Amino acid sequence: MGLKKPNVGCILCGHQCRADRQGGHVGRCGAGDRLGFSSALVHRGEEPPLSGRDPARGGSGAIFFTRCNLACVFCQNWQISQSNDRGLDISVEEIVEMMLRLAEAGAFNINLISPTPYVVELTKALAQARAQGLNVPVVYNSGGYDSPAALALMDGLVDVYLPDAKIGQDPAMDGGEPDSRSMRLFGAGDYAQVNQAALLEMRRQVGTLKLDERGLAARGLIVRHLVLPDDLARTSTLLPWLAENLGQDLHLSLMAQYHPAHQIKLGVNDEFRDLPGLGRPLSIREYEAAVEQAWALGLTNSYVQGLGSARQMRPDFDKPGVFN
Ligand code: SF4
Repeated sequence: MGLKKPNVGCILCGHQCRADRQGGHVGRCGAGDRLGFSSALVHRGEEPPLSGRDPARGGSGAIFFTRCNLACVFCQNWQISQSNDRGLDISVEEIVEMMLRLAEAGAFNINLISPTPYVVELTKALAQARAQGLNVPVVYNSGGYDSPAALALMDGLVDVYLPDAKIGQDPAMDGGEPDSRSMRLFGAGDYAQVNQAALLEMRRQVGTLKLDERGLAARGLIVRHLVLPDDLARTSTLLPWLAENLGQDLHLSLMAQYHPAHQIKLGVNDEFRDLPGLGRPLSIREYEAAVEQAWALGLTNSYVQGLGSARQMRPDFDKPGVFN
């Protein structure tokens, strides 16, 4: 009698839930054995090295996946990220076709949004797409809660990493115990530890951001951070960590577009009454303080936003163009 091979299950994100996805089970994120897809479109509102500066040309070839591995209570994309009845389950061949069509339409890159649960399928899709002539950079645009296993699979296939750094480590904690704020806001009490390890690995793989002669991202790392009201994302402790560990040449996208969405309504509900800042947009003063801190730390490769971007770039996945 032969020994049965142990099934380790899915360990692609920090949850390490070990769901047997190929055996017909779904993981904590809701992902099973097919690619969960929502939309593919040319996105003209990403950072300038991704979408370009001319709103009439190029853009980023965005492919939105469903079933995010995080559960942000104010997620702007909640219609597809946290709802199991949205989107389609598609094949590797179909995603290859989408990548090729976006590149043919003039997209400057292929921007894989919330790809973490699907990296196994994406290794196959990217190899096939490259063999069929895909010749634009591939952007891995994740929530930053990627496991070492996921990033090892992507090593050599990704040109530009575009992860979030959602929250800084609680300075009062030694990193051993779960962070209750991170658990409540993002559904992951160990987010900061997993995220810091992921950022370091991404940086190791692709290095600092390199632009081509058009000013477009060719290879490297861009870290996104959404500044929250009342410093709820601990921006003030996160930025020094980024500068110290990823270097002052880091390309940092400081986002100002927070607005109460999904589980957070204007004025906050009872569950979040102890975090009243969640119930309002970010103030100009709060955003300027974050930008000033980044500059003081030498993070001068930072992309900044106007506060009006909150309204302009609010997605609606019920509309064909999502951002139109
Ligand atoms: S990606 Fe999904 S299935 Fe895999 S470990 Fe994370 S939550 Fe579990």
